[in-house]
Amino acid sequence: MLNFSLSPEQLELQQKARKFAIEVVLPVAWHYDEKDELPLWVLKKAYDEGLMNSDIPEAYGGAGYGLVEGAIITEEIAAACPGIATSIFDNSLGFEPLVLSGNEQLKKKYLPEIVNNFKRICFATSEPTMGSDVAGIQCRAKKDGDSWILNGTKYWITNAGVADYMTIFATVDPEEKHNGICAFIVEKDWEGVRVGKHIPKLGQRTSNTAGISLKNVRVPAENLLSPPGEGFVLAMKTFSRTRPIIGAFAVGAARSAMEYSINYAKKRRAFGSRLSTYQAIQFKLAEMYQKVETSRLLVLKGAWEADNGIDPTITASIGKFYATESAMQVLSDALQIFGGYGYTKMFPIEKLLRDTRLFTIYEGTSEVQRIIISGYLLSMYQSAMPPMEEVPILTGHDQLFDVDGTSIDATAWRCPLCGYIHYGEEHPEECPYCFVKGEGFREIWGKGRRASDE
Ligand SMILES: Cc1cc2nc3c(=O)[nH]c(=O)nc-3n(C[C@H](O)[C@H](O)[C@H](O)COP(=O)(O)OP(=O)(O)OC[C@H]3O[C@@H](n4cnc5c(N)ncnc54)[C@H](O)[C@@H]3O)c2cc1C
Repeated sequence: MLNFSLSPEQLELQQKARKFAIEVVLPVAWHYDEKDELPLWVLKKAYDEGLMNSDIPEAYGGAGYGLVEGAIITEEIAAACPGIATSIFDNSLGFEPLVLSGNEQLKKKYLPEIVNNFKRICFATSEPTMGSDVAGIQCRAKKDGDSWILNGTKYWITNAGVADYMTIFATVDPEEKHNGICAFIVEKDWEGVRVGKHIPKLGQRTSNTAGISLKNVRVPAENLLSPPGEGFVLAMKTFSRTRPIIGAFAVGAARSAMEYSINYAKKRRAFGSRLSTYQAIQFKLAEMYQKVETSRLLVLKGAWEADNGIDPTITASIGKFYATESAMQVLSDALQIFGGYGYTKMFPIEKLLRDTRLFTIYEGTSEVQRIIISGYLLSMYQSAMPPMEEVPILTGHDQLFDVDGTSIDATAWRCPLCGYIHYGEEHPEECPYCFVKGEGFREIWGKGRRASDE
């Protein structure tokens, strides 16, 4: 059952995405980075090639690919330009809540438009005053007869400047936190919707990012994607499916940095030898490869879980967290290998590093991933090992076991505080080390018990 190979179809898709990345994306990446502009025509080409909207179900006219295929495509495009990859993938982020929702009417209305007519859809939870704390949304949704009225500002919205539709998360009452969050599909042309200027950024300049102002926007009831109380969960379920793809961006960017570094290290000479002959450089390359490979495994595991009906939330968080942090380390090492040239705009590392820096921020910062993972560990994780006080640390007894692993003559008791082990029929009166009363001692091993009984 466990299988780490891609199918022939997936390999073909990978080759197609790689060709597109190298022939279409790579030659224009620095030009549009300098212009600080999203090349919409590249998105159109990706759409024409079937490399956009990959996971829209076939029932709505889509290719019906899984997240594994999405990750494969994304790694290749991000390897050429993480910013363009972000904007191509952003459509999936935008329609994912719709695909996840049970609203058939809305799916039939919007998904075929996205598939057939190159419509763009963006995703908006973030606002000028909140990003990580999704339950802290301030944008207000008020029921008015048959429709809803939206008022508020969304910020940092990828592709807002080129979107036709917007998945907007709002709240009926900010005081209600999670319970107040709802979601809507809003059309950009509706009265009261305005998109701000493209926000100038450190990296990912080839991806459009803008704010959205919503002033008394009337949304028909049928465009309610998620009723109050269900919007927060919908946003979280969306992230569980999109975080593996953010990890795939990081894998692609790190892989490129590694490949450029190998190439450079084999050519550049210092102190009479090629850089690649120095162990300090070789070890950097080895660590880069280790990070790329381990990140990809985690990313694909999260995607595979989602495709196989397993809740991918935790693997998606670990994968996003690990791949994006690792990618930053890879980029930093790559720049070091390139020396001064790495720091210039005439070599590819500088832009990749700027682009990669975003990955630990959007779709849940690394701190948010730590919160999710530690929350899971402390509340739901099932330990395989026995509780601490039952661990059979059987020290201090020379003849405890017979040759077949049978405990020969002793029952063992463990002090609940300091861990001292007492052997005897009964627990001691008190612990000789920490003086805790003997009643608290736990029997951790019984006389005559076999080690193999466990
Ligand atoms: C280029 C770009 C594109 C984006 N695209 C989109 C998009 O398409 N749609 C969308 O909705 N949003 C988008 N975002 C927003 C992005 O998701 C947020 O920036 C991100 O979630 C962080 O929110 P924030 O910037 O408000 O930071 P804050 O939430 O203000 O956090 C600031 C810092 O504090 C840390 N922090 C916050 N809370 C805690 C805590 N409890 N414990 C420890 N540390 C904490 C954070 O990790 C972070 O380091 C985009 C952002 C950027 C920069």
